Order: sequence, then structure tokens, then C-alpha cells
Amino acid sequence: MKTATRAGLLVRISDDREGQGAGVGRQQADAQALADRLGWPVVEIFTENDTSAYKRKRVTKADGTIEMRVDRPEFRRLLALIESGQIDGLVAYHLDRVARDPRDLEDLIDVVERARIPVESVTGSLRLATDSDITMARIGVAIANQSSRDASRRIRRKHEELATSGQFNGGGARRYGYERDGVTINEEEADVIRTCAGRVLAGESVSSICRDLDLQLILPVRAQRWSSRSLTDILRSPRIAGLRVHHGEVVGDAAWPAIVDRSTHEALMATLHARARGQNRPVLARWLNMLLWCGKCGHHLSSSSLGGDRAFRYWCNSQRDGCGGVAIQGPRTEAYVEAEVVGYLGRPDVIAALARGRSSDASQATRHDIEADEFQLRQLSRMWAERQITLDEYAEARGIIEQRIKSAKSSLLAVVPLHVRNVLASAEVGTTWTALTPAAKRDVARTVLGSQGLMGWTVAPATSGGPRRFDPSRLSLRQDGGVHDV
Ligand SMILES: [Zn+2]
Repeated sequence: MKTATRAGLLVRISDDREGQGAGVGRQQADAQALADRLGWPVVEIFTENDTSAYKRKRVTKADGTIEMRVDRPEFRRLLALIESGQIDGLVAYHLDRVARDPRDLEDLIDVVERARIPVESVTGSLRLATDSDITMARIGVAIANQSSRDASRRIRRKHEELATSGQFNGGGARRYGYERDGVTINEEEADVIRTCAGRVLAGESVSSICRDLDLQLILPVRAQRWSSRSLTDILRSPRIAGLRVHHGEVVGDAAWPAIVDRSTHEALMATLHARARGQNRPVLARWLNMLLWCGKCGHHLSSSSLGGDRAFRYWCNSQRDGCGGVAIQGPRTEAYVEAEVVGYLGRPDVIAALARGRSSDASQATRHDIEADEFQLRQLSRMWAERQITLDEYAEARGIIEQRIKSAKSSLLAVVPLHVRNVLASAEVGTTWTALTPAAKRDVARTVLGSQGLMGWTVAPATSGGPRRFDPSRLSLRQDGGVHDV
């Protein structure tokens, strides 16, 4: 390890409202002891008083630029001395004694990287030797920044400990799917949850499932009927995947068994989240929208009702920038395309292409991000085990990273819909397909066609008999990239 010959000590007097900071005397003694152990001669002690922590004023940075910052003359003097080479090592007590403002940390990182000096801290929370040290410091400061505004920090500690050790937190109403003890599965209710999960993932709306449950006289825990809210809460709960949650963040494996597996849980989160944001709306009446293209102008066809449930057509809607010149009968076209898609689903080469997955650059990059985050999670837990960070810091940093992994995973799932895997895994592909909702059918069709470099079908103008008479020869496969063979 790099050694210092002229080290600086940074200690900070805090007004210490949280009652957990060491006094300046102890900080200095501990930091001095660490410098002695490292064999770094200390040439200067920088003592800061942060009673003015929220007063800002203009500061001149090492590169000469001016910014509004918390007034920290001693910290600025330290940076200047590192920059000029008069200090070649830094010992601090704890990360939060060095920087509360992320921009102060960035200034320190800049200076330390330029001067290539070693940094150590008594609690081990600040080391800037590697990229992962720097990442940890950034996370630590972001968290300290957050928690300095959080008055109830210590009250939460007990819950945090319970949360991290994976025990049931007791209290409150019984959770649907589990007995009153919170850890024993209620098999009957667990079956309901699994069935509902499958139906949501197949594209059914939560409210239609609720109506069905009410009709079957299946009751929720306390109410007399289901609401979309109560069912959504259950399906989105990490609890049913055997995950312990604290403050809305997954903090680890729970002490109770899972009702659904992890991948189902992730798919549920992604699906319900997308619906809440108005994407992938479950109510899609006609699944060939966006799969049929006009043979005259190249616009996509959209469905329009001709009055009555079964009477509808797909046409190049002139009110939606189409030419209005092409239309085709709805039900027969759907039946034709349905047979085509089911045919694709039975072909070994198509299944092989789907199984390989779509290794586009985007999903490749996402996988890489997830791996990096998972690596960071392992490092974090090691740092916690070695007492380099506190439980609070561990739990919060973990929450931040897991949130990131969660959203990355949902973007991966958006690329390969779960319906496709479900359809492929079923024994009778045709039957499973028929049971799908329109939204799920469209997803499956687009994925299957996409794996073959296809976008859908081009519909040629009607030759004789008008659009109401179905003529399958008007439909031809459309290649990805807009080339269509009419
Ligand atoms: Zn057209």
C-alpha cells in the first residue's frame, strides 16, 4: 500500500444532534493512533466546526472556479495543501466527518486522484484507492445527506435489525397467503395468489380477476370483497416471494417460505408497474393493431367497429394519417393470423431462436449493469460483515442498489414477455394461445415474428367482393425494416 510522509488529520466538531458522533478529542486520538499504526508522520491537524453547516458562501476551488458551498475553510485549506504536495496522505475519522455535501466529496476525489495520495479513516468508511472505494464513498455521502434530515433514525434501528435478520415483524393484520404467525403458508390462499399471478401475467386486468374472485365467493383477509388495490398490493408484495421488506425496499431473504418464485415476482412487479404508468394497458380489444400494414401507403391498420361485438374490420384509418384505401374483415383475419402464429410456435427453429433470447446491444448492456450492481451488493455485504460500514448505511445502500437492479430487470423482461415462455412451456400450444388475452396475444405474436425478422403482415387492397369478403391471399409477411412484398 502507498505510504505517506507528510500526513494530514481531518477531525470535525459536530453539534452532534444524533448523539452518535465521537467527540473531537476522541476523533483526534483515534485518527492519530491510526496514523501511527500506518507509520505516517502527521504534520498538520485540520479541525472543522460544522455549526455553520448550512450557511453557504462563495468558495474558490483548486482549479480556480467559484461555486456556492458550505463554508469549510479548513477543508479547503486541506485540499489546497494536497494539491500543492505539502500533504501527501490523509487520515480522517469517518466519511461523514469529511463530507456531507456530495460536491465536497467530489472535490476531494479529484484532488486525491490527481495527487495520487493514500486516504485512510478510523472507521474504514473512507478509502479512495480503487473505483469501488470511490463508489462506496459516494453512496455513503448520499446516504448521510439523506439521513441527516431524518429525525427518527434511531427509532428505526430496531426494525432495521429485525428486517436485516429476516424475522417476521409481527403486528398488523394477517397477511393473505399466510397463517396468523406470518410464516406458515395457507395453502388454499397461496393457490389463489398463484392463480391470480398467472392471470395477471397472461394480460388479464386486476379488476376483472377481482370480480371473478368475488363471484367465486373467495374472500380477502378482512373485507367482504376484493378491490384492485388490495389484490395489487398482495401481488406486488415481495413477501409472497419470501423476501423481507423494510421501508419499501427488499433487505434480504425472509424467514418464511415463498408462495411464488423470484422470476414470477419480478415479472409481476414489471407488469403491474407498467400498467400503473399507463403502459401495456390490459384492455386491448383487438390484438392485430400494430401487426397489420397497409399495402397502399405502408401505414399500420387499426381496428374499427362496424357495430356489434363480432363485426369489425382493420383499416388504414384516414383519421389517423392513413390513406383510407385498405380494409380487411376482422374476425377471419384474426383467425388466419392466429393459425400462422401458432404454427410458428410449433417450429423447432423458431423455438430455438426464442430460447437464445434477443441478445441486442441494449439488453446486453442491461445485463452488464445488473452484474456490476450485484457485484457491488456482494462487496457491500462484505464491508458490513467487516464492520467497515454501519447497519444503517448497509441497509440503505443496499436499498438503493437493489432498486436499480429491480428497474434494470424489468426493462429486460419488457424485451422478452413472460407470456411467450408460458406458451412455449405449455403442452398444448394452441389451447394456451386461445386462452390468452388480446394484449398477451399481441406480445407473443410480436416476439415470435420478431425472432424471425418479421413485423407482421402487409394487407393488399381488395380486388373484388369488397373488404367484407375474406381473401387470405391479400396477406403477405412483412420484413423488419419496412420492406414489404405486396
Ligand atoms: Zn394506407
